[in-house]
Amino acid sequence: MKRIESYLVGRWAAGTGKPELVVNPFTEEPLAEVNADGLDRAAAVRHAREVGGPALRQLTFGARAELLKALAAALYEQREALIDLSIQAAGTTRGDAKFDIDGATGTLAAYAGFGKQLGDRRFLCDGPGIQLGRTPRFWGQHVLVPRPGVAVHINAFNFPAWGMAEKLACSVLAGVPAIEKPGTPTALVAEAVARALIDSGILPEGALQFLAGSAGDLLDHMGPMDLLAFTGSAATGAKLRAHPNLVANNVRVNIEADSLNCAILAPDVESTSDAYDEFLSNVVQDMTQKAGQKCTAVRRILVPAARVEEVAGHLIEVLKRHRSGDPANTDTRVGTLTSAAQLRDVRAGLERLAEAAHVRCGGIDTVRSKGFGIEPTLLVAINPEADDFHQLEVFGPVASVLPYDGSAAEAVRLANRGGGSLVASVYSNDGPWTEEVVLGIAPWHGRVWIGSDRVKGQATAPGLVLPHTIHGGPGRAGGGEELGGLRGLAPYLQRTAVQGFQGFVAKAFGAGDAPAQA
Ligand code: NAP
Repeated sequence: MKRIESYLVGRWAAGTGKPELVVNPFTEEPLAEVNADGLDRAAAVRHAREVGGPALRQLTFGARAELLKALAAALYEQREALIDLSIQAAGTTRGDAKFDIDGATGTLAAYAGFGKQLGDRRFLCDGPGIQLGRTPRFWGQHVLVPRPGVAVHINAFNFPAWGMAEKLACSVLAGVPAIEKPGTPTALVAEAVARALIDSGILPEGALQFLAGSAGDLLDHMGPMDLLAFTGSAATGAKLRAHPNLVANNVRVNIEADSLNCAILAPDVESTSDAYDEFLSNVVQDMTQKAGQKCTAVRRILVPAARVEEVAGHLIEVLKRHRSGDPANTDTRVGTLTSAAQLRDVRAGLERLAEAAHVRCGGIDTVRSKGFGIEPTLLVAINPEADDFHQLEVFGPVASVLPYDGSAAEAVRLANRGGGSLVASVYSNDGPWTEEVVLGIAPWHGRVWIGSDRVKGQATAPGLVLPHTIHGGPGRAGGGEELGGLRGLAPYLQRTAVQGFQGFVAKAFGAGDAPAQA
């Protein structure tokens, strides 16, 4: 049986404890085992700080951008093998596998581009210089410097490639070494991605380590210059935020958690319009892509009450063309859930949602006797105020239609009941209505995506996280923020105000001709 290995302190090795099985989610055939007992996490943290960090920091931002460009190329070389592995080991269709793998390559390449413009600098200026004294002689300049610590990246199982790459792109560019810990159900894919990156020899030793299996005591070894960037459920996020060592050392913690994302259909959108087509296709894509195991997927579909039957009917029509099946079969449109635990959670969640809703297609009965697949499931709420619609994330191909009265105020109220989300999509051609909704929901949503007749065929899907704009959300979504171009470097950098004689401060630490900012 294949053993998934970790790469710590310069070598690949597996743990010595009782292994956990990783299976093909469609056939349940065992594929590999993983265990990380006995691996020295304290040594890995030291190795990152003492070997990887100094090597990265002696490079300029421009040189580190070159590393990212080479990493993107190295990953691209393995593209076909990684896609095949993802289909086998993560339950993804070929399209879903590409979404993850190409997303990883694209994000590394995008950050190579963002970094290139920073050129030969080892620090960044944050804003212009400031006169602090009576005359310009006493001067201040905010600068951003890499923190001499380690970034621990704990990722969710659903994006084994992209999740790792988006965090790594920012930490490498910032000059901070990383230890990547993937979600265990898809650790086989994550290991292959890590091997493609590490074995390419592009990064200096210690800049990237990989820990498959349990995090163990890793967080106990973190200190004040380190960062924990976590992606996963709200429950695990809350636990890690309260970790005594992280609290005691004021370790920076960035949490990307779960989210009850919504799509809002405005009353002005006719069923014959482009915006309506866009609405149907985006909602169905979110429900079916990666079998709904996407943190940005729509869970709540707000529809004017008078149109609920019409809209549900149209959604079901499209969903019926998206059947779940063997991801290895090229005709299959919907892959499977990734693990038995995931299927158990989805089943339990559906049962709860069904207490306040009609199941209009799919449902628990469509679970097969073998494997973790379930058909896309659409519910129509009987009582849209029921807490579960707004608080219970069913992480699968499941969404609920919630009727509302069509007013902007009601749309805002219901959208915000999610308690903080990653993304909300608003479909309308009515400017003032849209403006009111966007301003009302913006504080509770990391991203607001507006669909209208004017962007049909031009817009990326709301569920797609782009490196140029931020990913994250307030409240329940974790309160964190990632990506967003050079903003994504901020957690890895220390902002310091340098104060002194202008002739020195402005010359040594001013922006000069270089592009400033992070
Ligand atoms: P999870 O169970 O919370 O696990 C997330 C990660 O945390 C995994 O690597 C897991 O390792 C690790 N972990 C669990 N307990 C830990 C502990 N006590 N100490 C250290 N690490 C620990 O979430 P998941 O099931 O993998 O992912 C699904 C969830 O992630 C969904 O709720 C989804 O919405 C959310 N998600 C959010 C985003 C976002 O960007 N906001 C993106 C993707 C997914 P093991 O796998 O080894 O247990």
